[in-house]
Formats: sequence, C-alpha cells, structure tokens
Amino acid sequence: MRRSSTVPHPHTIQEFAFIEGLHRRFGKTGRGVVLGIGDDAALLRVSPGEDFVATTDLLVEGVHFTLTTASYEDVGYKAAAANISDIAAMGGRPQYLLVSIAIGPAHGRSQLHGLYRGIMTACRPHGIQLVGGDTSASRRDLFLNVTLTGSVARGKALRRDGARPGDLVYVTGTLGDSLAGLCLLAKRPPRLRGGPQLVSSLIARHLRPSPRVEIGRALSTRGLATAGIDLSDGLSGDLVHLCRQSRVGAEIDIEALPVSAALETYAQRLGADPADLARQGGEDYELLFTVTPRNAARISSLARAATCRITRIGVIQPKSAGMRVRDRAGRLRPWKNVSYEHFRN
Ligand code: ADP
Ligand code: MG
Repeated sequence: MRRSSTVPHPHTIQEFAFIEGLHRRFGKTGRGVVLGIGDDAALLRVSPGEDFVATTDLLVEGVHFTLTTASYEDVGYKAAAANISDIAAMGGRPQYLLVSIAIGPAHGRSQLHGLYRGIMTACRPHGIQLVGGDTSASRRDLFLNVTLTGSVARGKALRRDGARPGDLVYVTGTLGDSLAGLCLLAKRPPRLRGGPQLVSSLIARHLRPSPRVEIGRALSTRGLATAGIDLSDGLSGDLVHLCRQSRVGAEIDIEALPVSAALETYAQRLGADPADLARQGGEDYELLFTVTPRNAARISSLARAATCRITRIGVIQPKSAGMRVRDRAGRLRPWKNVSYEHFRN
C-alpha cells in the first residue's frame, strides 16, 4: 500500500531491503506454491475435492502482547500458533501463511528476525509455507497480522453449529495452564512446590502452545465430531459460542475438567480451585468437540493413539435445559461466562 508522506521515519528498517531479506530467506517454497514471496500476489494451486479454509488474526502491542514479558520470537510463534489452531478447529490442513507487520522505531532488524524465527518454528512441523505479506511503518507500536489458509476434505469441516442433544463433549490436553503461565509472567512467581521447573512448564504452555492439528484432522476425515471449536478465549466462553451456534444447552461436570499436575500445585498455592482456572483460562488452544454416543468408542481409540489427553467433560442438552455445570457436591448450577472479551472494560 502507498505510504503517507506525513508518517515520520526514525526507523532503522528499510522496507525494500527488509522485503528482499524475506525473499532470500523464505522465497524458496515447495508443494502447491506456484509463486511465493516476490510477485504482486502469491499463486497457489488448489486441489479438487477440497474446501479452502482461511483465517486471520491481528495482534497489537500493548493489547495482545507486551515485549516486556514475551520475546519477539514468542510473539511470532504465538501469532502463528493461534492461526494454526483455528485451522485445526475446522479439521483442516494448514498450508499457506501471509504475514503483515507495522514496525515502530524501536523494532530493529534482529528483533524482526526473531519474530520470523518464532513464526517459522510454529509453522515448520506442519509444513506451512510463508508465501507473502505486507510491511509498513508504525509510529510506535508493533502490529502483526497473520493470515493462514489451508484445506479440508469437501463438506467435512468441523463447524460450531452441528452439536445435538445427547452428544458427548470432549476436550484435548489440559486446561488453565496458559492462564497460570500468564499470571506467573506478569507477577513474580510465588514460591511453588515443584520449583522453577513447574513455573517454566506453565509459562511454556502460555508462550508456546501446541495446536492440535492431527486430532482435528482425524476428527474431520473420520467424520467423528458433530461440532468443534478451539479454546482461545477460555472454556467458559468458547462453550457458549458452540452452544449458541448449535442452538443447544450443555451440562459440564466440573470434576471432569482435565488439569495438569503443575496447575494443581499452582492453584493450591493460590488457594484457588484448579477447575475455576481451567474454566476461565484463555489461550490454551486445545480443541473442544462433540460426538454422538455411538462414536464414543472410536474417540477412546483415537485418544490412545494421541500425543495428548482427550477427556469427556459433559453432554449436550436441549436448548431449553440451558447451560449448566455440575459442581463437586453434585449440584447443577448455571454456567457462567468468565472469559476475556475486548471492549468489555
Ligand atoms: P506491494 O507493493 O504489491 O504490496 P510489496 O513490495 O509490499 O508489494 O511486497 C513484495 C512481496 O513481498 C510480495 O510478494 C509480498 O507478499 C511480500 N511481502 C511484503 N512484506 C512482507 C512481510 N512482512 N512478510 C512476508 N512477505 C512480505
Ligand atoms: Mg506491500
């Protein structure tokens, strides 16, 4: 896009030299890419029999991340991982990445190298190729927009609107770790039994989440899930999204929520219930999905082969029953949405 002549340029980065550097480092691409970085637009080959899936995320310094608690590499990793998780939640195969950045005067060449290193660290295990982007100056803050495309077998995507009463509700991995990691980054770590290793494992879960691409793809290709969503805002809010779009209610068993040993210790130390952290926590990038009861055994066998836990946490109810949680005393209480939301003050 054309530059306004009113933006001052105390920047050390030069746009064209920077893009040339990107071209050198990432210009060589493989399968499906007819033209990557360097032309007016990327040229990608689409496969017949597949639906094209696309997602994008905008990250703003001071809103989504601060460079005091996360490195440039962490920020890049997480931006890519969040998008990969969205494709995973559709049951798709992530393929092509575009990265747009607006760079402030404080963001120099080596920091931006770090940013792209983080992005590629998240992408490499999935064979995702960087095929383009855009570069601009910013007056101060760093803005990072990541767009990821991919494919899913035609008609097989995991949508949010397919859950039906009686379906079983599952989540991957453990919940709440990322929130605990964020709290540990923001404050000085309280003295925790388990020590530095426990602290760093929770922080790692916050900074380096693992999108569940293989599980999402297995669910979609085998037709095992009726609906799915990834947990980016937190279970409490993301379950509401799934239920609203499916026009159903749900009953969740608080005792069933999967929590890590690290989170248990952390919660104990705070005098908190780990299940509350699990319900509230955002940015776990686990998958939440629903399954008809007749497929429950197939989920068990998927779980045995998976690299993370898959846990049944409840059941879908008719809309009229609402959304409820069974507490430790066996009482049913209304489900509260305590997840983070922009513009909510
Ligand atoms: P245009 O003027 O058409 O926007 P640019 O000079 O901005 O073209 O971009 C040239 C090439 O470099 C394009 O292929 C574009 O996708 C790529 N590109 C530009 N900025 C970035 C970036 N930050 N990350 C990745 N690729 C980029
Ligand atoms: Mg451009």
